[in-house]
Amino acid sequence: MKIAIMGAMPEEIAPILEKVGEYKTTKYAKNTYYEATYKGVELVIAYSKIGKVFSALTATVMIEHFGAEKLLFSGVAGAISDELKIGHLIVATKLSQHDLDITIFGHAHGFVPEGSVYIDADRQMIELGKEVASDMGKTLKEGIIATGDQFVANEDRKNWINETFSADALEMEGASVAVVCDALNVPFFILRAISDSADMDANFSFDEFLDSSAKESAEFIIKMVDKIVD
Ligand code: SAH
Repeated sequence: MKIAIMGAMPEEIAPILEKVGEYKTTKYAKNTYYEATYKGVELVIAYSKIGKVFSALTATVMIEHFGAEKLLFSGVAGAISDELKIGHLIVATKLSQHDLDITIFGHAHGFVPEGSVYIDADRQMIELGKEVASDMGKTLKEGIIATGDQFVANEDRKNWINETFSADALEMEGASVAVVCDALNVPFFILRAISDSADMDANFSFDEFLDSSAKESAEFIIKMVDKIVD
């Protein structure tokens, strides 16, 4: 079996590369892919660069070019839910694009014809995630993640995303990866550790907690691989 592990930024996959130790580096479609064997399972690891387009490209390449059969995303996010504090983990139950807007034609936010407002994540992977959380003695919140091509550092925008999509966290890659995986029938797991609260201090908080939260998420993802391999 081949499993894809992706992040958006170098910091998000560095702890994973460190854990696997040896890997082969391949350049493809203007990005770098790291292939490794971990506990007898093949991994393809990459960071996509930030945003929906780059993340959709990387997810597609991992599946179509490298043959990944499951995809795990590891990264950081801004919290919307009050329950989520810095370093806390959330797994997406479903995801939506908060900046997709053809509402002038009478459609809902996040909707385009022949698409859907939300993409559901894989229930089995979430159940596996819950087992991992319990093994690790960690709390894993299940919730809705909203994705858009903007860093949200604004209380009004954050509240609007909450009201419109009932989202618990927001980031810039999850929903685009979900669209790709859903279309290509690849079970996916989008995990995020909170780096900020998407408010006026979000950029400072992000800079301070990127490394520690990225590591928190990456450590969980490695345990997910361990669980899948078992
Ligand atoms: N500091 C970086 C830019 C980070 S963009 C630079 O200068 O290059 C934020 C990244 O973290 C994205 O990959 C996104 O998925 C996630 N993220 C964390 N907090 C976020 C927030 N408040 N709004 C949007 N994305 C956020």
